This record gives sequence, structure tokens and C-alpha cells, in this order.
Amino acid sequence: MNVSGIHHVTSMAGDPARAVRFYREVLGLRLVKRTVNFDDPGTYHLYFGDSVGSPGTALTLFPYPDGRPGRAGAGQVTGTAFRVPEGSLDYWADRLDEHGVAREQPVEAFGHRMLGFEDADGLWYELVAAGEAGDVDPWDGAVPAEHAIRGFFGVVLSLAEPGPTVEVLDRLGYERTGEDGDRTRYRVPGGEPGAVVDLRTTDVGGRMGVGCVHHVAFRTPDDDAQADWQATLREHGHHVTEVKDRQYFRSIYFREPGGVLFEIATDGPGFTRDETRESLGETLKLPPWLEEDGAAIEDALPALDVAVEQ
Ligand code: ZN
Repeated sequence: MNVSGIHHVTSMAGDPARAVRFYREVLGLRLVKRTVNFDDPGTYHLYFGDSVGSPGTALTLFPYPDGRPGRAGAGQVTGTAFRVPEGSLDYWADRLDEHGVAREQPVEAFGHRMLGFEDADGLWYELVAAGEAGDVDPWDGAVPAEHAIRGFFGVVLSLAEPGPTVEVLDRLGYERTGEDGDRTRYRVPGGEPGAVVDLRTTDVGGRMGVGCVHHVAFRTPDDDAQADWQATLREHGHHVTEVKDRQYFRSIYFREPGGVLFEIATDGPGFTRDETRESLGETLKLPPWLEEDGAAIEDALPALDVAVEQ
């Protein structure tokens, strides 16, 4: 049994309007869902992805406009890597420069060209010129489809002591494939687009807050497979939550021994559950159990104009 790579990555951002401008207008991702954090309905939950937010493409944000900045370090996902077409990195380097995005020079890592940059909250990203893989429907938005992001490539976990985390990755089906610089790479067979997890050792302590990745979710096809994971992980002593209905997928969570919050999410039902493909992300969507308080919830949220700028 193995997971099918990354399902989504969820991070803590600052200003929601700035986040929409950056992820949609600079990175060219589609805003596929605007809802609230079901565990904290005073906060938005914004989902960005390919044309439909396919599993393996969804970058999600909890924006806290007055939130305390965190510190990237041990026990966190400290890098999120997107897959882009081979030959697109020069386009991206120019694009990031035009938009004044802090970036590094492209480097070669594990046989691919890679370009690192950070967003205004300090979240660290990488574009990896690894080409197409997996089931992705690129969004022809602010970035033309030929250069558009093709979902995730992988994540980087920073750990004080990698050993116990390696055991968990092994249980999830990951195999060690090599080392480059300060990273050790693990891949899960059939996990494309986001099949990669890189581990890095650090003695910098992490502190969760704005500018940090909150958790990473791995894919499982359906409820039965998810129930098997819940049972297996509990047998191995992990404190796994009950199944939570996230409307667009169902989720279980556990904290791996290195401190990173892991989620296992079902591929379905997906973001077209409550909006048509054409109108994804246009209106605030609430789950049935919050609809009764919908007007009050919407009034309490910061204003967020998601209309596409011409
Ligand atoms: Zn999640």
C-alpha cells in the first residue's frame, strides 16, 4: 500500500487580497475555491490549483492579516516545489523579476533545473523543470498554458532528526532515491505529479505562524483506502484523527514524529462539487453546517475582491 503523492499543501499567509494577486496573477494558478477554515470560520481558506484543482495541484492558504509571523525550521515543510515544463525556467525567471519577486539564480539539483523564490510572507517555493507527469489540466490564466505550473513536484521537510520520519515515509510507500547537497530524496511510485519528498536536517527550531507551511496532505483514492491508512497508522502508534469532511475531499491527520502535520486526503469529490467548472472560486462557498450562519460569517471576513484584473 502506498499513498499517491501529494494531494495539497496548506500554508499560513498574511493579507488575503495580496495572496490572490500573487498566486493567481503572478504564479498563474486558478483560484478554484473560496471558503473558510472549517475549524476557524472567521478565517478564509483559499484554494489555488490547475483548471479544476486536481489532486496534486492544490496550494491552499489560511490568510491571517494580523497573524504573528512564524519561523521556518525543524518540524515543518520548509519548501514547496512546483513542476513546470522543461525549458520554461527562463520565462519564469523573467516573470518573477518583472513582478519584483525575491528569487535565486537557477541551480541544477537531482538532474533538474530548479529556481527558488519566496512570496511576500516568506513562504519558500521552487519551480522544477521536470516536465509533464500525472493527471494535470494546466490553467490558461495569467501565465499562458505552455509555461503554466503543472501541479506540485514535491515538498522539502526540515527535521532535527530524520530517522523516525524516514520510517513513516517508508510506511507511506516512499523509497530513497538519492542525495544532492544537503537533501535526501524520497519518491513514491505512481505519485506524480507530486511524488517527491526531500529531507533536510537542521538545528533551527521552527515556530508555526504566518509564512509557514501548516501541513502537507497525501493522496489516497477513496474512503476505503483512507480507512485502511487510519487503521494501519494507528496500529503503528500514530494518533490519527477521525475522518473529517472537508467537502471537496475527506481527511485524516496525524503528526509525524519529526513534528510535521501530515494529512491523508481522498481524491474526491473535488472542487466541482458545489460550483460549475466555469465558475470555480467566484463566490464564497460554505459547508452545509455553516450555511445557517453564512451572512454573519461573510460579514466578519475581510473584504476580498476576486474579480480578475484586466
Ligand atoms: Zn489539508
